[in-house]
Amino acid sequence: MNKNDSIELLIEDISADGSGVGKLDGMAFFVKDALTGDLVSAKITKLKKNYGYARLMEILQPSPHRVEPECALHRQCGGCQLQALSYDKQLEYKVRKVRGALERIGGFAPEEIVMEPVAGMTRGYRYRNKAQFPVGTDKNGCPAAGFYAARTHSIVPVDDCFLGVEQNREIMEKTLAWMRQYGIEPYDEKTGRGLVRHVLIRAGFRTGQLMVCIVINGNKLPQAEALIKQLEQIKGMQSISISINRQRNNVIMGDEVRTLWGTDYIEDFIRDMKFQISPLSFYQVNPAQTEVLYDTVLEYAGLNGDEVVWDLYCGIGTISLFLARKARQVYGVEIVPGAVEDARKNAQANQIRNAEFFMGDAEEVLPQFYEQEQPDNSQHPQVIVVDPPRKGCRESLLETIVRVRPERVVYVSCDPATLARDLKYLCGQGYELKRVKVVDVFCQTVHTESVVWIQRKHI
Ligand code: SAH
Repeated sequence: MNKNDSIELLIEDISADGSGVGKLDGMAFFVKDALTGDLVSAKITKLKKNYGYARLMEILQPSPHRVEPECALHRQCGGCQLQALSYDKQLEYKVRKVRGALERIGGFAPEEIVMEPVAGMTRGYRYRNKAQFPVGTDKNGCPAAGFYAARTHSIVPVDDCFLGVEQNREIMEKTLAWMRQYGIEPYDEKTGRGLVRHVLIRAGFRTGQLMVCIVINGNKLPQAEALIKQLEQIKGMQSISISINRQRNNVIMGDEVRTLWGTDYIEDFIRDMKFQISPLSFYQVNPAQTEVLYDTVLEYAGLNGDEVVWDLYCGIGTISLFLARKARQVYGVEIVPGAVEDARKNAQANQIRNAEFFMGDAEEVLPQFYEQEQPDNSQHPQVIVVDPPRKGCRESLLETIVRVRPERVVYVSCDPATLARDLKYLCGQGYELKRVKVVDVFCQTVHTESVVWIQRKHI
């Protein structure tokens, strides 16, 4: 077997990043855009010792699980790796992915892993309340928004993304027309020149409020009044701001935000609680599934009203406030200053008086609280909820958790690999795995969200 050889493969699985996997002569081949059940012809692009990569040339026999994708650009864009796979199979894939990580990386035996039924959506499109469109130039050099074509610095224009709200289209059309009219330069990744880098759009699904934040490589937005005049006409527009990002990196938002028009935040409801959300604050992207996710967290926390609970990586305090209604005292910890501010305001707005928020690194705040303040037994935490970014928790935090001995830990995770790693640590230190639930928050994509309950063993 050599590079550039054409091979025929029956795709038997989908990898963690969404490539089809087929076997030939004991070698596993990864083929982008191929799905379980496809018989394909593919060309070998890279060979390693016992696996390789191949480019899809032709689908000789399509998988019975193929469906018609809604978006014509889904293959080029790469954001929706699973759009051509039936939704049932997408859900199966995600459950298998989480279970697989727990077995392989976490070292759990299959019978130790109790997976609850996966929570899917009835329609896995138009579910996102947030979009971040990169702005650059299309292949003709005109300002455009969409996604970067593979291996290039040019943008493939997208006038509508089927995961997002319909208002995105009008906001982007108006913004691009304004750029063209006033000669506002898009940012150029390659040279670091130009002004407009990204457009962040957020929509409150329940309130109908819209937020637009223009991320710029500069201090000031020229002709801002003209843009505002266009955007303020859109129904629901509530907040227009700029975020200043002059760094040459691929981080989207800059640390500084200036409101140009309207309020500094938008508001939205989760169940009966109202939340304010600022541009730099994290907010769950799929409102319908957020409710399922948070219900599961509450169920796994098993509160009776008398507990001290920590919500680490709490964002704008959403989980914290739901916990607070069922506990004696909740402490939330969050590293982004604007988000902590939102969290405190949100507690007030919902008349929650037993939630306190700390700004800082969870890995520092928790040990400091339990070491320096010498709390008495009344501060002993019964439950600790963690919802870290993809990289998971640092081991020093897990050590602290083990030391303060909560009865339960509820782990919300968007990365099964780091989840499995962290659970392996905790379950090696006196905890046991009770339940795992996958909630499909990122439909059409390979990304998974899961909630896990682990319990302290009494020996
Ligand atoms: N639980 C929240 C937010 C989860 S996202 C919700 O459901 O909305 C993860 C959050 O962790 C983000 O708000 C991020 O800013 C914050 N974060 C990242 N690293 C952190 C750290 N080391 N300490 C505390 N918070 C951190």
